[in-house]
Amino acid sequence: ETPGPLLEIRGLVKRYGGIIAVKEVDLKIAAGTIVALIGPNGSGKTTMFNVITGLDPATGGKILLQGRDVTGLPPHELARLGIARTFQNLRLFNNMTVLENVLVGMHSRTTTGALGAVLRPPSVAVEEREARERAIEVLSVFGNRLLPRLDQTVSELSYANRRRVEIARALASQPKILLLDEPAAGMNPGETLELAEQIRSLKDMGLTVFLIEHKLNVVNDLADRIVVLDHGEKIAEGTPAEVHADPQVLEAYLGRK
Ligand code: ATP
Repeated sequence: ETPGPLLEIRGLVKRYGGIIAVKEVDLKIAAGTIVALIGPNGSGKTTMFNVITGLDPATGGKILLQGRDVTGLPPHELARLGIARTFQNLRLFNNMTVLENVLVGMHSRTTTGALGAVLRPPSVAVEEREARERAIEVLSVFGNRLLPRLDQTVSELSYANRRRVEIARALASQPKILLLDEPAAGMNPGETLELAEQIRSLKDMGLTVFLIEHKLNVVNDLADRIVVLDHGEKIAEGTPAEVHADPQVLEAYLGRK
């Protein structure tokens, strides 16, 4: 076990010209926990994800993964170190199959780095079979939703299934921390409950989850801790009960919804 947080953010600032999207945010995420990031539209949630995953450079501040400074590393390097994410607007290869999309996620981890060449199995067939087995393992997180659809193209899937493939692809890189950007968006109440159960099972397997979600029932049910952003600033942080009792949160977030 590693002492200290799995992910730590110190004084994070992100500016777009005159707009300050993220203002001096400090945050610690303990290993094995689920932390939810909430806040009104435009409060900087997705921007934080973009900076943490290296898609957008930070203007200021530091990002530490298990104590190591990873600020400024490119996305593929951060993926290799164990940071995976999904997107609010899905970024799947729609003309590729479910299996192929998950295999792409796997490559973000395994084909980079010097050890990849050394450890590569002697036969490509073996490698492919192992990759397929691992993809199936990852897809089975969603019970029988995706397993019978391995060879269907993503464009044939229901919206909820596409959201699941997006998560499966991120999981395929065997991350330490998974960043989920509104995973329940567009899902009906039944699908949302099912997803919450599955996210909980990921935590039970030891994964750390950082989650943006507008559906507060999901957040309250799942999150060990909630972080609230407003106009790029962290205005509250704590357990769901603490955060919902915070007058500043009620004013800034719930009051406006
Ligand atoms: P939502 O809940 O609507 O997804 P959010 O909390 O994720 O909102 P962000 O998308 O992070 O908010 O936006 C934060 C602020 O940064 C907004 O004012 C937005 O207009 C601005 N912003 C985000 N990305 C860019 C960009 N690439 N260029 C300029 N401004 C940006």
